[in-house]
Amino acid sequence: MKVGILGAGQLARMIALAGVPLGVEFIFLDPSADACANKLGEHLLGDYNDPKLLAQLAERADVVTYEFENVPAKTAEFLATHTQVHPAPKALAVAQDRLVEKTFFNDIGIPTPAYAPVNSLADLEQVMPTIGYPAILKSRTQGYDGKGQSVLKSSDDLANAWDVLQGVPSIVEGFVPFDREVSIVAVRNVSGAIVFYPLSENVHRGGILRVAQCRANDALQAQAESYATRLLEALDYVGVLALELFEVNGKLIANEFAPRVHNSAHWTIEGAQTSQFENHLRAILDLPLGSTDPVGNAAMINFIGGLPTTEAVLDIDHAHLHLYDKSPRKGRKVAHATVCGDTEAQLQGLIKQLSALADQVDDS
Ligand code: AMP
Repeated sequence: MKVGILGAGQLARMIALAGVPLGVEFIFLDPSADACANKLGEHLLGDYNDPKLLAQLAERADVVTYEFENVPAKTAEFLATHTQVHPAPKALAVAQDRLVEKTFFNDIGIPTPAYAPVNSLADLEQVMPTIGYPAILKSRTQGYDGKGQSVLKSSDDLANAWDVLQGVPSIVEGFVPFDREVSIVAVRNVSGAIVFYPLSENVHRGGILRVAQCRANDALQAQAESYATRLLEALDYVGVLALELFEVNGKLIANEFAPRVHNSAHWTIEGAQTSQFENHLRAILDLPLGSTDPVGNAAMINFIGGLPTTEAVLDIDHAHLHLYDKSPRKGRKVAHATVCGDTEAQLQGLIKQLSALADQVDDS
């Protein structure tokens, strides 16, 4: 079996690392010559809309998937007419545009913050009395890790925020005074079987994920699973999907979903019976899905902008290091560590030690 992946970054790399023991081969399409997955398979070097390369990918791969949601919609549609593409292009179309995404959530009964489309400063001024302050202005497309976003504290901020977004089609949403951020990572295979990982509790700083912790037996697991199920079924989805949620007063409100494997579930490599990467492959190849049961008390710590020494990480008992083979750059995710504690108290100690190492090299 050969799996084609659009993108050859760290997510593609970890999918490939999970696929090798299953005898799966890989072919990547990525415009970057030093893309970090490229040692794990064949690398088609070029643009995502290069018709010659897409034809080669479609011919050589039994099934195509992607590691990021900003794959041009036309690329996914073209590939889907020539080979199997999972998840289907519809999931990309919904996830690529925050306005379409929030409308889709509401249509299937998943609550979101109050929101409104904004195409001009006049639109923004008009809707703010309804949305209320504080609020967040976000570009509808191409935003990730808090990029393309501005917080609005009062009407004095509107003109500047609109300028910062350079007048691109946007969405304004009410700022949620959340108690926690969590995500549910779910997997559905071609035959329609669904499994869920335990909730991840996620800590962001500057819009970037820093720490994700597995929360087995969380009181909100059932609510999160019911939202994820609606999304998977409405999209006839195949593969891993991550739904990011805010918890407010014991209820969940959706922020966004990612139609791919997700940073908040990297702890599943050592912290679950089957990793999200292996389960993504099982899903798209229509193999039986693996158990999502947690192993110990797991968490993941991102290394952003710089790397501690390998010795410093491995010197911490229970720590596993995952290097992405990417050169450090400001704000860039270059590696993560996973830890599995025997007890919650031990886990908290391990998170503290690894977070201290991450903070020493973090330039963001
Ligand atoms: P996003 O790119 O939409 O995932 O946003 C990145 C981070 O910004 C989120 O993980 C939250 O920490 C924060 N954020 C985004 N939208 C909101 C909101 N409506 N209310 C409060 N915080 C938000």
